[in-house]
Amino acid sequence: MIRPEFDAKYKEHLQRKIKELKKSCGALLVAHNYQRDEIQEIADIVGDSYALARDVKLAPEKTIVFCGVKFMAESAAMLSPEKTILLPVEEAGCPLADMATADKLRKKREQYPEAAVVCYVNSTAAVKAESDICCTSSNAIQVVKSMKEDKIIFVPDKNLGRYVREHVPEKELILWDGYCVVHMRLTREEVITTKQLYPGAEFIAHPECRREVLEEATYVGSTAGMLKYVGESPSEEFIVGTEPGIIYRMKRNNPEKKFYIPTDQFICANMKLTTLGWVARSLEKQIYKIEVPENVVKKARRTLERMIEVVK
Ligand code: SF4
Repeated sequence: MIRPEFDAKYKEHLQRKIKELKKSCGALLVAHNYQRDEIQEIADIVGDSYALARDVKLAPEKTIVFCGVKFMAESAAMLSPEKTILLPVEEAGCPLADMATADKLRKKREQYPEAAVVCYVNSTAAVKAESDICCTSSNAIQVVKSMKEDKIIFVPDKNLGRYVREHVPEKELILWDGYCVVHMRLTREEVITTKQLYPGAEFIAHPECRREVLEEATYVGSTAGMLKYVGESPSEEFIVGTEPGIIYRMKRNNPEKKFYIPTDQFICANMKLTTLGWVARSLEKQIYKIEVPENVVKKARRTLERMIEVVK
């Protein structure tokens, strides 16, 4: 077992090393809200996948170390083709994104030729290329409402799709059978038990959770929405229904408030693959460069740009 004082020293050593490497190669380090605390501590920007892709585009740096999972780095690469996007851990994928493939989506389109395809940003570049428009968990309702078609194939997250369907009853949503393996683990019983343990706490949840879990929440929203909500709510305690990496920023922004996790099964293993050591290695060796095939980029970028046009 590593002694805590050694762990702290080693963490400082790696964080110093990363800062030096970043400076010497003029790189920007960005991290998703679900990344480990020690990564968020030294990131130049922390945010959700869409905010990070947008901020990468605006940043002057030409090399970006993207601490997140592959579909996020792909979106950043497609919106900033002039930049080098590095993903520190090559295997950091997303099981939800992998639940939809371009082939299966083409077949679904044949089945419903009159429908438009809205893809959640948590999808591969190839699936984005087969879609009409992209959305995030914070703008999915707005994007679906904006479509002229009455029928929408919503891919790949069925929980987010169901949540959107309830808010846009005028549209017929055909849901893909995909789900986030992390958010699906949380049960209503676990939420109820945690509420009993912390009766003064508000339960807030991400729309990737099951419907019966969302029914227990006083607020449902994206990670960015949740961060805003906990800052504005008069409540002092919150039970957080999303990956606990978000609690680092919640605590930092609201040191006087308390945050609880409703289950110990809520860790996204893919997000936690990125460690300080892998980030240092990524900068030293300039790996792993994200490259999306040109024929995919052209079409997939268009779906991202359409979303930006709708929500601007
Ligand atoms: S939390 Fe879920 S959707 Fe997000 S990266 Fe992990 S598996 Fe994918």
